[in-house]
Amino acid sequence: MAMKIALVGIGKIAVDQHAPSISASPEWELAATVSRRGALQGVERYLDIDTMLSARPDIPVVSLCLPPVPRFAYAKAALEAGRHVMLEKPPGATLAECYALEALARQHKVALFATWHSREAAAVSAARDWIEGKEVLRAHITWREDVRKWHPGQDWVFEPGGMGVLDPGINALSILTEILPELLRLQGARLHFPENRGTPIAADLEFSNGVTAEFDWRERGREIWTIEVETDGGRLMLAEGGARMFVDGIETRLSEQSPSGEYPRLYARMAALLGNSEIEFDLRPMIHVADAFMIGDRVAAGRFDW
Ligand code: NAP
Repeated sequence: MAMKIALVGIGKIAVDQHAPSISASPEWELAATVSRRGALQGVERYLDIDTMLSARPDIPVVSLCLPPVPRFAYAKAALEAGRHVMLEKPPGATLAECYALEALARQHKVALFATWHSREAAAVSAARDWIEGKEVLRAHITWREDVRKWHPGQDWVFEPGGMGVLDPGINALSILTEILPELLRLQGARLHFPENRGTPIAADLEFSNGVTAEFDWRERGREIWTIEVETDGGRLMLAEGGARMFVDGIETRLSEQSPSGEYPRLYARMAALLGNSEIEFDLRPMIHVADAFMIGDRVAAGRFDW
């Protein structure tokens, strides 16, 4: 029988990815939404989480699609009500919040899944397997996109806690930490802050082991989402956000994965975690972002207006 789930924060990503992935899966039944303004046709709607949690004890799983700053209160309420919880990335606005949620999940013996959707891109597991056993000589991430295209009018990304360009950048870091499992140390960062905004619009990071990253939201052309890794056994490139992989310039044929698509795979994983109330909560991408804000140089970047 399909598992009932409530979707919370009906905005861009809930509509684009979560709702279609849940509806397409026989494992799930979208039983309710919680959102102050958003709603989905034909799905019971609540305006606040506490009302939903007390009215619908039959819904055991809650998936939270809010931005990181407001999300903690919702996650805490759901865990304290004994519900299994799935979190959009990043899993919190602060590391302490993340540890608090993990502790609550253990206390209430429920599943907790900090999702990293980019890790589910088609070529990421093949890249991890190819790199395994090789010596990594250097690596470089290029993550450039147009914020006006990908976050139109979303002011929260430029407010403290919204992470700025590190919101897409953390997707690249989630892939990096998956394919290079050793925890790298951030050694330097330059964060480019628009004078009228609270978060950076571009960032350059330098890690140990010859790993560097450039994130930029001012790209006006096509987005570039690549990770290049030079090893003692050849050169790998992940392109298109991890969808395609090249070794020494030749594209690798990828085997079919089921289900296909980043978000369908996240929901399949969440279904698997429920059985033993497992916690999957890798904070390494978040640690790198927190470190960038701790040691990053602040660089002036002019005004940003939508
Ligand atoms: P969004 O559309 O701006 O926000 C999602 C919903 O959250 C809003 O529609 C709003 O619903 C609710 N919300 C916003 N601020 C709130 C507040 N202060 N208090 C309570 N509810 C609030 O954001 P999004 O683009 O979907 O992103 C949400 C999360 O998904 C982020 O963590 C982001 O990093 C991640 N994500 C986004 C994308 C993308 O392409 N946008 C891709 C992958 C992951 P109501 O007003 O109806 O309550």
